[in-house]
Amino acid sequence: MENFEAAKSRDLTYIMHTYGRSDICLVAGQGSEVTDSEGKRYIDFTSGIGVNSLGFCDPDWAEAVAGQAGKLQHISNLYYTLPDGELAETLCTRTGYARAFFGNSGAEANEAAIKLARKYSFDKYGTGRDKIVTLVNSFHGRTVTTLAATGQEVFHNFFFPFTGGFDYVPAGDLEALKAACGEDTCGVMLEFIQGEGGVVPLDQDYVKAVAAFCKEKDILLIADEVQTGIGRTGTLLASEQFGVQPDLTTLAKGLGGGLPIGACLCTEALADVMGPSSHGSTFGGNPVCCAGANVVLKKLDGAFLAEVREKGEWVRKEIADAGYNVTGLGMMIGILPKKGTSAEIRTKAEAAGLLVLTAKERVRLLPPLNISWEDLKEGVKILLKTLDA
Ligand SMILES: *Cc1c(COP(=O)(O)O)cnc(C)c1O
Repeated sequence: MENFEAAKSRDLTYIMHTYGRSDICLVAGQGSEVTDSEGKRYIDFTSGIGVNSLGFCDPDWAEAVAGQAGKLQHISNLYYTLPDGELAETLCTRTGYARAFFGNSGAEANEAAIKLARKYSFDKYGTGRDKIVTLVNSFHGRTVTTLAATGQEVFHNFFFPFTGGFDYVPAGDLEALKAACGEDTCGVMLEFIQGEGGVVPLDQDYVKAVAAFCKEKDILLIADEVQTGIGRTGTLLASEQFGVQPDLTTLAKGLGGGLPIGACLCTEALADVMGPSSHGSTFGGNPVCCAGANVVLKKLDGAFLAEVREKGEWVRKEIADAGYNVTGLGMMIGILPKKGTSAEIRTKAEAAGLLVLTAKERVRLLPPLNISWEDLKEGVKILLKTLDA
């Protein structure tokens, strides 16, 4: 490709127009900096939507991924391999869960959790106890079932009929949740911080009360940590900071450090719910993706996570001191602009050499977890200038 216009025109010709893209074609990155086809440099506050936990092309991550690609890139789940077992052991040991199922995305991780919750209930109570209650303004994925799980009416369009058995209650309203959970309910699914919904955190007391209520009724609590998990909020899982251990936790985005992988983690009590042939995925637990994820988890030790919290706090203080409303935890940050829309801020920041995300009316920041103080400070400077302009 010669230049940006040629690349853009080829994409528009041959790729379905499902994405609203910026007029930028990115070609190479290192750490938290990335360069476009015209040679312009940007500081990255997006991590590819929370995916590149270690930034672009971390040398240890790239070496492990390339090494595995040169050794055994795939063989299917008909055989045992090494990287997926290592990953499952690390995840379970560090989170207190008993077993993992690996898929390839956040939506698939949630599908696995939904299937598990329904099968658990079916095995124990028979048919008719299959409803899953989710929160208004949630986001759980783009498959027909996870769209149904998503508590936003704008997503319930065109693709009828959606999977039945979902109900939605406003976040923070415990009485509404209790009222929606009847004899027919097998699960409650929530994000501790609604990411796509606008970086909206749940109240800790509410989360604890929901967990206690679910336990009392034998309703499985499913935490969608696809965005909040893997150190994003400053702890390996956000649940640690909300003081609960959900029955199921789903992960994806940051887990593979840039490669497609999702996971559904379950407690000891649920370890045998999904037996032989109840679920599967051709690519699930792919050795190359798992090799990448193993490096991500190795790097996310206590000192690393403490620094994520420190950097996140610093950013939130800088932005709040400048007079902006800031939400989020760790390096998951939402900012309400005072002038212009979040989309306008995003475009202006890009022009100034900073990539940011939006979530509804907020500007959303998901910087690489290991971003240097230098890049972080330069990025925040650009952002404040853009917000104030
Ligand atoms: C991104 C996201 C998903 C969907 O993940 P995909 O990998 O795009 O399928 C699900 N839940 C939450 C909370 C997310 O942020």
